[in-house]
Amino acid sequence: MSVDKFSNSEWIVPYNYLPEQFKNRNDIFAEWEKLAQSSEFTLGPKVEEFQKSFAAFVGAKYCIATNNGTDALILALKALGIKNGDEVITVPNSFYATTGAIVACGATPVFIDVDARYQMDASLLEGAISSKTRAILPVYWGGAAPDMKAIVDVANRHNLVVVEDACMGIGGSHRGVSQGRFGQIGAFSMHPLKSLNVMGDGGMLVTDDENLYQWMLQHRNHGMKDRDHIAMWGVNMRLQPLQAIVANIELPKIPEIIKNRKQNADYLDVALRSLAPRVITPERKSYDVETYSLYMVLCEDRDELAKYLKGKKIDAKIHYPIPLHLQEAALNLGYKEGSFPNAESQAKNIITLPVHQFLDQRQLRYMADCIQEFYL
Ligand SMILES: *Cc1c(COP(=O)(O)O)cnc(C)c1O
Repeated sequence: MSVDKFSNSEWIVPYNYLPEQFKNRNDIFAEWEKLAQSSEFTLGPKVEEFQKSFAAFVGAKYCIATNNGTDALILALKALGIKNGDEVITVPNSFYATTGAIVACGATPVFIDVDARYQMDASLLEGAISSKTRAILPVYWGGAAPDMKAIVDVANRHNLVVVEDACMGIGGSHRGVSQGRFGQIGAFSMHPLKSLNVMGDGGMLVTDDENLYQWMLQHRNHGMKDRDHIAMWGVNMRLQPLQAIVANIELPKIPEIIKNRKQNADYLDVALRSLAPRVITPERKSYDVETYSLYMVLCEDRDELAKYLKGKKIDAKIHYPIPLHLQEAALNLGYKEGSFPNAESQAKNIITLPVHQFLDQRQLRYMADCIQEFYL
């Protein structure tokens, strides 16, 4: 089986769709040319245009564009006063940046386990709260939603703030509300493998709180009030106008991208459910729109299956084989094997299958057939 549109790829079912996503780039290059002529290389109208569009897209009052999702998380935590000695509750099955951002603020990450949908288990929150707890940092892992109502309820009862890691959640929603819109601040990423991609790094924050907005806006740009005066010691976390141009062009495509991904995910869900219990697909909630940034299933003999699929030229991935609390970097936190049974067993059994918007029916069927064949 050959697939012409990915002729540069060694894969029959590639994971990386970026060559296809940016195949027609004349509109981007034309805007870049204009930017080069204007020489507005920091902030300026393209960044402002994007911030306005994205705020409207998720139904937020304010958006601040940053140079990546990690910085967005750090800026959000700092804006809420998270500092040395504070504890922030999060999950052990995210990308490194979620925990990294907490540590970058001088605070201590406190993990709680996840549920069968790989999302923060809100029923474990209260048991993890101490006198030092200041914030909860839930993750929309893979682009699905944890139970945000339960999480916000606990936060309100205990006077905690909520920063949402919606880095994979652009275009997703939960109970009719955009992902990243339940807590004080939501953080997003435009890294090339999230749902909205720029040609490099990019991120953003959304909030409805005017004071938080003003603080983050100033801190992102060296704490400057104007060219000659600073109100605070700040940092440079600005989104580049070059990337804002890409984001402005790509953002309107998101609903269609999410729709296509969902069709692909639905197809795989149906095909793989027949393999239960050797393959387990996560429960889908009728009130969620998932972004399928990661299409993850749990499977028996995972490592063997991963190898088998590679041999069939299907680029499956593993997100991630080692949970955060068992990383060398987490040694000082005092967790051990057995601390989080769900996250640990998922790390051993999870596999991520390509589900992106450029896969066609043949590729999906081929992938489903190969997996069925493996378990025969
Ligand atoms: C990608 C990602 C980040 C980090 O975003 P960058 O833009 O790569 O810095 C943080 N959290 C999650 C859940 C992510 O998927």
